[in-house]
Amino acid sequence: KPLAANVMKLSEPQKELLDTVDVFIFDCDGVIWRGDSLIDGIPETLDKLRKANKKMFFVTNNSTKSRAGYKKKFDSLGLDIPAEEIFSSSFAAAAYLEQTKFKESGKKAYIIGEIGICEELDLIGVPYIGGPADSEKEPNMGPGGKLEVDSDVGAVIVGFDRFVNYYKIQYAQLCINEENAEFIATNLDAVTHLTDAQEWAGNGSMVGAIKGCTGQEPTVVGKPSPLMIEYLESKYGVDRKRICMVGDRLDTDVLFGTDNGLKSLLVLSGVTSEEKLLSPENAITPDFYADDINAFFQTEES
Ligand code: PLP
Ligand code: CA
Repeated sequence: KPLAANVMKLSEPQKELLDTVDVFIFDCDGVIWRGDSLIDGIPETLDKLRKANKKMFFVTNNSTKSRAGYKKKFDSLGLDIPAEEIFSSSFAAAAYLEQTKFKESGKKAYIIGEIGICEELDLIGVPYIGGPADSEKEPNMGPGGKLEVDSDVGAVIVGFDRFVNYYKIQYAQLCINEENAEFIATNLDAVTHLTDAQEWAGNGSMVGAIKGCTGQEPTVVGKPSPLMIEYLESKYGVDRKRICMVGDRLDTDVLFGTDNGLKSLLVLSGVTSEEKLLSPENAITPDFYADDINAFFQTEES
């Protein structure tokens, strides 16, 4: 086994981390669950942390569900988590529109994405078009064919969409190129584990399509963007230096931690292998790593 002697792998200094951290931000897929299966031992570990008075937040880049949708998912896995502790990238998109006072512009959003983004925009009262409603549409490409777009679109939100099609791409292209709509991406995950059998094209592919036809870079609201941490600071007064980000992915979770002045812990229960973490090509280094959060938080009395 290569490089197993690396000093960062923790089974001992948990106490030091527990003593210097008040808030744990947990990534979801690969840390709490894998797909629809809870990772073994999670309820006990979360209980332990709650009893130790640690504040916890659960942050996922998957925009297909709203906060309320994730609350149901946590419930179905037997985890009783308050909705306010859940941050999906769909919620982040809505929080960004609130932060930038989008509603006051009187404009609407065009959505490439699924129901999660629609539900979050409903909650903040921002009108939108697109999303699932456009999943069956085809543009008119006959002679003189033209797709008319709503000139009131002021933002295009691009999230993971299993029903993305040419109509949606063209609509988004026109909104951004012709109507100067702001280009917002929920996240840039290149691939995701929709099933255990293989990797699936992630939202990076939908965002890539829109980058490709507009030449523009999006504002990203999910990890590793600082938006969520700014939100937590302003709402809960948390101190960054006493936050630990726990995730399974280097370019979203660990980068979110290192870019924003948090402590970071990589767990090997998801998409990153020990080999990849320790390979000379990897430039993103967490403060600590562990097999999973159970291994890490085990204490003598457990
Ligand atoms: N996006 C999609 C579509 C996903 O299916 C997943 C994981 O299942 C993710 C993003 C990454 O989610 P997380 O940030 O919870 O690891
Ligand atoms: Ca993850």
